[in-house]
This record gives sequence, C-alpha cells and structure tokens, in this order.
Amino acid sequence: MKKVAVVTGASRGIGRAVAVRLARMGYVVAVCYHTAADAALALVEQLQDEGAEAAAFACDVADSASVTAMSDAVREQLGEVSVLINNAGIAQQKLFTDITDEEWNRMLGVHLTGAFYTSRVFLPSMLREHNGVIINISSVWGQVGGSCEVHYSAAKAGLIGLTKALAKEVGPAGVRVNCVAPGVILTDMMKGFDEETLQTLTDETPLMKLGTPDDVANAVAFLVSDESSFITGQVIAPNGGLVI
Ligand code: NAP
Repeated sequence: MKKVAVVTGASRGIGRAVAVRLARMGYVVAVCYHTAADAALALVEQLQDEGAEAAAFACDVADSASVTAMSDAVREQLGEVSVLINNAGIAQQKLFTDITDEEWNRMLGVHLTGAFYTSRVFLPSMLREHNGVIINISSVWGQVGGSCEVHYSAAKAGLIGLTKALAKEVGPAGVRVNCVAPGVILTDMMKGFDEETLQTLTDETPLMKLGTPDDVANAVAFLVSDESSFITGQVIAPNGGLVI
C-alpha cells in the first residue's frame, strides 16, 4: 500500500534532503513550499525521474486556511497522509529588545503555530488508521537558547514541548511524535553568517565540522522507519556534539 509523506519547507535545504530520502524509501512525497515554486517543481521532476511519486503544494504554514487548503489538495492528489515532517522555518538574528511584535509573531507563527496547524489537520486520519509519524524539526538553540535569537529559540523550544505532550496524547492511538534538533547545518539559512563565525561554530563543534542536510535526513529517516518503532516523544540531535 502506498504511504504518503508531507514535508514542509521542502523546496530547499534540509526539507529538500528529507523529501529526497523519503522518496527513496518508497514514500509518495508532498513537496510543500512557500515561495520557491520553481525549486519545488524541479525537485518533483527529479523525484519522478527517479521513479518516485511526488507533487508540489504551495502553503504558508503560519496561515490556518492555507494549511487546510494544502491538506485538502494533498489528500485529493496523493491520498491520506501517514508521515508529516514539520520542517518549514525562517531565521533572524536580532537583539531581543529590537524584535518587533510582527517579527515575534511571525517567528512563533511559522515554527510553532505552523506545526500546530499541520499536525491538527493531518492527525485525524493517522489516529483513525492507528498509524502515523510526526517529526518536528527543532534546533540546538531550542535546547540551550541562542543569543540574539530569542524568538527563534523560544519557537524551537516550544516545538520540543509540543512534541513531548502530543507524543503522550496520541501514543495510545499508534502515532509517534519526535523531534530532530540539528546543530549548525550548511543551508541558505546560514548564508547570513560570515566565514569567521562559521569557523568559530566549527571550532565549538567536537566533531570539528558543520552538518549537511543529509545528516538531518539520516535522523529523520531513522525516526520514520520501523527501526524506531519504540521511540516517541524524544529529541534526536544531529549536531556534531555542539550540545551534549
Ligand atoms: P532554508 O534552507 O532557509 O529553507 C527554509 C524552507 O522553509 C524553505 O523551503 C521555505 O520555503 C520554507 N518556509 C519558510 N517560511 C515558510 C512558511 N511560512 N510556510 C511554509 N514554508 C516556509 O532552511 P533550512 O536550513 O533548510 O532549515 C529547515 C529547518 O531546519 C528550519 O525549521 C530550521 O529552523 C531548522 N534548522 C536549521 C538549522 C541550520 O543550521 N540550517 C539548524 C537547526 C534547525 P520557500 O523556499 O518556498 O520560501
């Protein structure tokens, strides 16, 4: 039976690597994007060329109506969803006292409220089927806090709380909910950091290197697979030892 996976923020970076991995594991993949339609469509084409089934869906995860429209479209085109990867994210470095109401709300909206909207909309069929996996992509900064990223850290810490509480609530119905909290991963999100900062982050990482999107996709693949069938409510951290 075909199994459908939804990956938010799949047009680039970590989400893209996760989408590729899930397609290669045999999942039908919903490649969700916000603005990068061309990149999402190019990925769908690549996955189809590899023999996988995939389709692209536009969605602003911070907008409840947009999430509902996306979920309706996914169900209609691909079928019921059994795997949801909440990966969409934005970043901003700013002094706490300079963060505006709008910036605070957007950060919480995309990361935390977004995961609420998507999980709420896809959970009912998982509960009905007694089968489902939700993975929330948090961050090392959600675990230990990042200076000049208080709103980002708060949103990512919130995702860890959401993961743990939801895992308890839906575990009896056969749905597993876990978190992946990456360290520093080389994607567009890190483009704003200069060479010196990246070198400092590398030096602070015991494995002496920064991560790749595939390092995160490996952890996601494990948490999606039956090899992790006794794991729920946990935070797995591909971070090179940056936080131990
Ligand atoms: P990225 O390369 O900047 O990609 C971000 C993705 O999120 C894009 O696909 C983007 O879509 C999508 N997105 C942004 N706002 C959205 C919205 N409102 N609705 C739906 N999709 C939206 O980022 P990344 O580095 O791969 O990060 C992916 C996740 O990992 C994020 O949650 C991030 O916080 C987390 N993370 C990253 C790192 C790191 O070092 N890179 C470390 C820890 C955790 P479009 O391109 O279509 O606009």
